[in-house]
Amino acid sequence: MNNSVDPQALFSLGYGLYVITAASGDRSSGMIGNVVSQVSVDRIAVSMNKGGFTAGLVRESGRMNVNVLDETAPFALFQRFGFASGRDTDKFAGLSFSRSANGLPVLSEHCNAFLSLRVVETVDLGSHWLFVCEVEESKKHTDAPSMTYAYYHANVKPKPKPAAKKRWVCKICGYEYEGDELPPDFVCPICNHPASDFELQ
Ligand code: FE
Repeated sequence: MNNSVDPQALFSLGYGLYVITAASGDRSSGMIGNVVSQVSVDRIAVSMNKGGFTAGLVRESGRMNVNVLDETAPFALFQRFGFASGRDTDKFAGLSFSRSANGLPVLSEHCNAFLSLRVVETVDLGSHWLFVCEVEESKKHTDAPSMTYAYYHANVKPKPKPAAKKRWVCKICGYEYEGDELPPDFVCPICNHPASDFELQ
């Protein structure tokens, strides 16, 4: 990137979030994807990291299902499909799902629609495959709003716990000050004694 490129600007791009399922032979898997876009009247483009197990299944089979996550999707669903590899775990264990005409898993819980896609062209993007696809089957489940990446970060992803605040107590009157650091020029609002009369608890 040259000097006129601000990488922060890339964070301004909006994305949806999807569970993409695929299978080849007797192996099936799913992943969380965020790059799925309708790019023409009859083409959907899906980008996947080449290292992913699901991407390999799509390469072999030329098929995938895109399940559109809605705003009810809990963090556990992202953990299930996003934080482990399908090489090691059965990501569908204990999950209720049906199958579309292509035989691939369809999730209806916490998803508002699905698309069954057939790959018609694959573009090598270095780190990623860009699959250009046609829609073979699709169905809308509900009117629930689709999950966006911004919504996920604001409402679904657990927030880091704030560090515990420190507490200083005025030795004169017992007033308590909470914060990261007691300012050296602090004056007790109750008894007007200086910071030197405060004790860290
Ligand atoms: Fe005081």
